Amino acid sequence: MSLLEVRGLNVVFDGFKAVTDLDFDVAEGELRFVIGPNGAGKTTLIDCITGRTRPASGSITFDGHEILGRKEHRIVRLGIGRTFQTSVVFEELTVGENLDLAASFRRPLPALLRRRRAYPDDVVRVLETTGLAGLVERKAGVLSHGQRQWLEIGMLLVQQPRLLLLDEPVAGMSRDERERTGQLLVEVAKTHTVVVIEHDMEFLRRFATVVTVLHEGRLLRQGSVADVQADPRVQEVYLGR
Ligand code: ADP
Repeated sequence: MSLLEVRGLNVVFDGFKAVTDLDFDVAEGELRFVIGPNGAGKTTLIDCITGRTRPASGSITFDGHEILGRKEHRIVRLGIGRTFQTSVVFEELTVGENLDLAASFRRPLPALLRRRRAYPDDVVRVLETTGLAGLVERKAGVLSHGQRQWLEIGMLLVQQPRLLLLDEPVAGMSRDERERTGQLLVEVAKTHTVVVIEHDMEFLRRFATVVTVLHEGRLLRQGSVADVQADPRVQEVYLGR
């Protein structure tokens, strides 16, 4: 059984069909990439999974439970975390404080009340995983673009989700930052299920196993990077742009 199963998803905005009859399955432990031209329905798919957008019809199950129709915060509590294209870090707080605050989501005590005491183990672990340990006291507002993205992924990780949904995490990154992010995603996928919206074909060739291609709200193709790249329909709508 897949961890995430989307069946017959239809999303309509004011009469416009943004997603049509979409099936989308992700197995536990997978690192799945979703590509497609602008307007293909990628973000809308994630918005439906996270309860932000209500589809016209369809079913979305997570670990066997129907989640369609549940409120956003309840879906987060089931173990689905997402990042947005826009940043959500608190710029005036340090890297460690941002992570601690995100972790406080699972704790009874507001994290900031524990300031100046050592960070809890889960925060320390995520600092190491994300490579941010050396920047723990740095204010988030002065981080580089790449470091900020890693912090956002870290802020998801401390919440211990089972499924992470990442919207274009390497957009605007340098080559080195992209490489580091790819390695981070591979590492994270050893213990989590990860779905990544990404356009960068070089990045996909380097890190993707299975790629799902959406076009005009429908599934166009799914397969290995090589299969997807060789498909003339994909070349026409996406790669040949
Ligand atoms: P992608 O992420 O693949 O670029 P989106 O999922 O953002 O595509 O959008 C799919 C289509 O749905 C686009 O044509 C977009 O303009 C439209 N759309 C997305 N959100 C809304 C909304 N809230 N209201 C109306 N149209 C929307």
